[in-house]
Amino acid sequence: MKTALYFILSVSCLLFGSCKPSEPQTLADLPRVDAALSMHYAERSVAFGERHSGSAQIAEYAQWIRDTAAQNKKFQVSVQTFSEQTPQGKITFRNITAEIPGKSSDFVIVGAHYDTKQFLTFSGFQGANDGASGVAAALSMIRALEQWNEKPPVGIRFIFFDGEEAFVSYSANDGLHGSRHAAALLKDSGELKQCRGMILMDMIGDKELDLTLSADTSPDLLKKLDRICARMFPDLKKKRLDYEILDDHVPFQKIGIPAIDLIDFNYGPSHSYWHTDWDTLDKISGKSMKTVAELVFALIWSL
Ligand SMILES: [Zn+2]
Repeated sequence: MKTALYFILSVSCLLFGSCKPSEPQTLADLPRVDAALSMHYAERSVAFGERHSGSAQIAEYAQWIRDTAAQNKKFQVSVQTFSEQTPQGKITFRNITAEIPGKSSDFVIVGAHYDTKQFLTFSGFQGANDGASGVAAALSMIRALEQWNEKPPVGIRFIFFDGEEAFVSYSANDGLHGSRHAAALLKDSGELKQCRGMILMDMIGDKELDLTLSADTSPDLLKKLDRICARMFPDLKKKRLDYEILDDHVPFQKIGIPAIDLIDFNYGPSHSYWHTDWDTLDKISGKSMKTVAELVFALIWSL
């Protein structure tokens, strides 16, 4: 009976390309993420204050991310420190990497930036969505894997990027410092062939979640995402953009890795909460972070 079912599935998949028996079918096939814990991690993040690169607060925040990730003993956690020139002089950046081995020696990168943008015109920027939400979702995924008794199908390398935000505007020495550094290390490591993809989470906490998929999204990952959403996240709103978004996925695309930026670039009425003092905890929800984190698990399980 089982063999017959598998045969039917395989044939229909071959014919229609609509499904793949190895892909997760329901959320019960995946580690489950705790929405309240995601919100708690976002609140803890915001409590560090303004967290722009080079600040005392981001140094403390980096240590907290490292310690929180390391609570799951299945993960190997490390910090990559490097200095680069910026419009504000030389700054020391830290990427934090937390990696869990998979059944295969191949791996996937899940990224989130942990720095917040520096504003000179106002103080007290929370960066609840733009900064904290991606970190909170990634830490919740690390926690979810603690309860999961099997190894994931591929290794998962979480990278918390420093220096995503530009001090002035994006250029060769402003913005994307952490992701450019991590992509360069990966290119030199000889592991490029084992890296199956890069999934970025940025601004995924909006209570009114709608994913805006940039035009440069990997077609293959986009196809998988559509299939997964139809099956497991039918209520999730998503929209394809006809323009590209410059974010931490781009340096990985440039070295040939299929990448997707899971971002909700529609934050508040006419995107008015973005990079303002309205980007606060009351605008985000644990449910949104949980949804995206579980979507990332579904993508990884289908790679
Ligand atoms: Zn930003």
